[in-house]
Amino acid sequence: MRELSTDILILGSGGAGLFAALHAHKAAPELSITVAVKGLLGKCGCTRMVQGGYNVALAREDSVERHFMDTIVGGGWLCDQELAWKLVTLAVERVRELENELGCFFDRNPDGTVHQKAFAGQTFDRTVHKGDLTGIEIINRLAEQVWARRIARLEEHRAVELIRTTDQESIAGVLFIDMRTGEYVFVRAKAVLLATGGGPTMYKYHTPSGDKSCDGLAMALRAGLALRDMEMVQFHPTGLLAGPHTRMTGTVLEEGLRGSGGYLLNGAKERFMPRYDPKAERATRDLVSRAMFSEIKKGSTSPHGGLYISMSHLGAARVAKEFKGMVERCADCGFDLAGGLVEVVPTAHYMMGGVEFAPDCTTALPGLFVAGEDSGGVHGANRLGGNGVANSTVFGAVAGDAMAAWVKDSPYREPDSAAIDAAAQTCERPFASRGSGNLEAVRERLYDVMWERVGIIRDGAGLQRAQSELDALDAELDGLSVTPERAFNLTWHDWLNLKSLVAVSRAITLAAAARCDSRGAHFRSDFPECGSLEKSTFTSIQDGVVSMKPVAFTRVAPGQTLLRNVA
Ligand SMILES: Cc1cc2nc3c(=O)[nH]c(=O)nc-3n(C[C@H](O)[C@H](O)[C@H](O)COP(=O)(O)OP(=O)(O)OC[C@H]3O[C@@H](n4cnc5c(N)ncnc54)[C@H](O)[C@@H]3O)c2cc1C
Repeated sequence: MRELSTDILILGSGGAGLFAALHAHKAAPELSITVAVKGLLGKCGCTRMVQGGYNVALAREDSVERHFMDTIVGGGWLCDQELAWKLVTLAVERVRELENELGCFFDRNPDGTVHQKAFAGQTFDRTVHKGDLTGIEIINRLAEQVWARRIARLEEHRAVELIRTTDQESIAGVLFIDMRTGEYVFVRAKAVLLATGGGPTMYKYHTPSGDKSCDGLAMALRAGLALRDMEMVQFHPTGLLAGPHTRMTGTVLEEGLRGSGGYLLNGAKERFMPRYDPKAERATRDLVSRAMFSEIKKGSTSPHGGLYISMSHLGAARVAKEFKGMVERCADCGFDLAGGLVEVVPTAHYMMGGVEFAPDCTTALPGLFVAGEDSGGVHGANRLGGNGVANSTVFGAVAGDAMAAWVKDSPYREPDSAAIDAAAQTCERPFASRGSGNLEAVRERLYDVMWERVGIIRDGAGLQRAQSELDALDAELDGLSVTPERAFNLTWHDWLNLKSLVAVSRAITLAAAARCDSRGAHFRSDFPECGSLEKSTFTSIQDGVVSMKPVAFTRVAPGQTLLRNVA
């Protein structure tokens, strides 16, 4: 096994990982910093896929208090308010840094101010963007800045286990598989950032990039960390539906389409959202996805079993100009977004749940930090569109600063070698197994279990059934074998992906079964009421046990507001 050492080890190269690397380097350029990533730096993860944009209170008529209140109300009062406050206040600094130090160009108004567009669930148009492909601008600039500094890269290195010290008291490093050779690599580090970006790719329709399979969350569960809000999986209402034989199905058509006035139509080409919510298509994602799911279950669907989005009433020329990327994406699949109808379906998009953490990105395991979509608590029960990339960049930067300070007084610690061996043996299991079977079939069943029983509308009986189905899938995976090559053995990595996805699916299911109410993204048809806001609790899962913990209203309680002059 190859061994390497680095002061700071960052897992993932999305907005969280790259911001952490840049901030740690700026704070302490003498430190060795390594970004280890499953894909290629700058080319993988979801930050690159960000379309609509970045929420930040820049306009004079807007305020961080207003952004905060939108986040708290949108999050169903389950947010950790200190984390949410940090999000909205530091987003202002991060956007300035992106523009003035890192070289991003965002769209501007004729007077030179930054253009901010409407996103659903917000009381002010505050989404900064670069056309409708904002993430490419952000990640390209961040990657260039990382490449230009003395920051080491381990690309196509898959993290497989967080390794504790011999006394189990803190983290000693991370075990990887070098996907290019199949060799195991142990990287010793004084501080480790978990920034692998969650990613609910266990659902039949999903948006995140193919490299994301909840590996970080699965590692955190195995390391005994507490994960909160795991039942809160966000479905984006407008996933493209282009048939079962294309990976374009499930990819997202951005929120700005609904924000700017797009209509959702059922199979009979009737607009239905006004029947479900006064804000109609501009209601939050949870409400719109649930309304769409109900319409689909009623049976009035498009040819592929979904619904339609219609933009033509806004004028084809305007749509083509404002949503160029989306129009091209739809055209690739044979749809005319500007002038016709496009088939859409709710698609699993984002995990609000993740590792419990403090506002300085520390976790319960000393030396392990977390940022971005692997973390839990910032968004509560529902993330506002535009708060995702704000979250990863804000807390990535916080983590970079905090890790630089942490490692200054921290020595390398001895890893638990038995834990390294045990983790490698688990990864080796499909080489030793003789079972024949089909990974693809396991994946399809996982998709169905999660979509049908742990998806947009849930109930106790379905969740219980899902738990035993997930146990069976896990056992089936343990019996499957893969071909013996090591270098770029994608079937082996698929097996590892599915192991992570099943482990995290179990956590989602357990948390969903424990939450006997309906809040934000979590809807139980057997418990449709949201319960008392004042007595709000969040789920916390650790070692397979879910506990309900009270939400601390540290800044504002239900019924109150931080805004002045509100009737
Ligand atoms: C299509 C799409 C559109 C979106 N649009 C918006 C939007 O308009 N506005 C908004 O705010 N948010 C949006 N989001 C959400 C946003 O992308 C995420 O909130 C945010 O980018 C997550 O950042 P991250 O750094 O946590 O993770 P990511 O950017 O996903 O990065 C995760 C990194 O971890 C790596 N990784 C994964 N597993 C491993 C492993 N085992 N070992 C090593 N590395 C690993 C990946 O390769 C990747 O580099 C969108 C998401 C999608 C999918």
